Amino acid sequence: MGPEDPSLNRLADFLLGSDLLFCALLDREGIIRAHSPGVPRLLHLAGDDCRNRPLAIHLTEADGAQLRRRLAGGDDERDEEFLLNLHSPLQGPTTLRCCLVRHPRGVLFVAENPAAKTAALADELLQLNNQLAVLSRENTRKNRELQERNRQLLEAYRTIQELALKDPLTGAANRRAFNERLRFEAERGARMKSPLVLAMLDLDHFKRVNDDYGHEVGDQVLIAVTAALMRGVRPYDLVARVGGEEIALLLPGTELDKGVEIAERLRREVAELAIDGYPKQITASFGVALLPPGGNPDRLMSRADAALYLAKDGGRNRVERESPPQ
Ligand code: GH3
Ligand code: MG
Ligand code: MG
Repeated sequence: MGPEDPSLNRLADFLLGSDLLFCALLDREGIIRAHSPGVPRLLHLAGDDCRNRPLAIHLTEADGAQLRRRLAGGDDERDEEFLLNLHSPLQGPTTLRCCLVRHPRGVLFVAENPAAKTAALADELLQLNNQLAVLSRENTRKNRELQERNRQLLEAYRTIQELALKDPLTGAANRRAFNERLRFEAERGARMKSPLVLAMLDLDHFKRVNDDYGHEVGDQVLIAVTAALMRGVRPYDLVARVGGEEIALLLPGTELDKGVEIAERLRREVAELAIDGYPKQITASFGVALLPPGGNPDRLMSRADAALYLAKDGGRNRVERESPPQ
């Protein structure tokens, strides 16, 4: 093994080029003549500033002396592994596991680059962090989508509920809502010992409205009359369109006399309505029936209807009450 041995030179070049090693070619005095890329990084120096500096100035005093002793010592001592403590501005006090390899160009100081592991870990951590950020963004997007879907579902559910219970033309309750509410109020009336009035009303000569002014004006009349009725009752009463131009008024907690009085007031209000596009007076006939507390609601509507026919027969634009039981 002479100074020209090419394989030793290749080995030195390989070690001095490795990023995984803290490797420096030292002369007899321990001055750095060449080094691997990790050396200036660990010592926090520019690449050129590393060269021609004694490695010992970066070691503790005792370890500097140890290095000098080993550099001057015999071959046996150079071959064994030993530990040195380095002051790294980057990593703080760092212990290097190292060995010295005699080389024709000097002595190779070879140690694991402690920054290499940290760098690899930091790299891995960065990648994991990036993946996490992507997942988190994805998650936020999915959550937003889900919230939007839920909102749409809720809206659709409310629309369906409204469609199921409301008359689309007038916005009043429909027949189905009326039936449900009648059962509910009848049960509550029985429990609370409270009477319930049903007033049925039918627009007078409504067919003529359609015939003379057209179906659309007829619709406007229906909308206006229903709105007036909804304005004219208490919040817990129910106005329901139960037929073409037949409207039911459910008045919980009301006696028959009071129901007739309310129907009379509403009749007047309808007769006094001024409706856009319909220059004539519109009137309605009312039939009022009572469900006493605990009574059976099944025949309540036909009793109110019977009273309504009396009102029609009696000349229309009037209120009639059901005849008292015989
Ligand atoms: P009466 O005083 O005896 O009740 O006479 P009327 O003409 O009101 O009675 P009839 O039952 O003969 O006519 C009811 C009319 O109501 C017939 C129908 O065309 C009309 N009608 C029912 N539903 C609607 C609706 O939604 N819109 C309109 N414009 N008309 C309707
Ligand atoms: Mg009618
Ligand atoms: Mg009718």
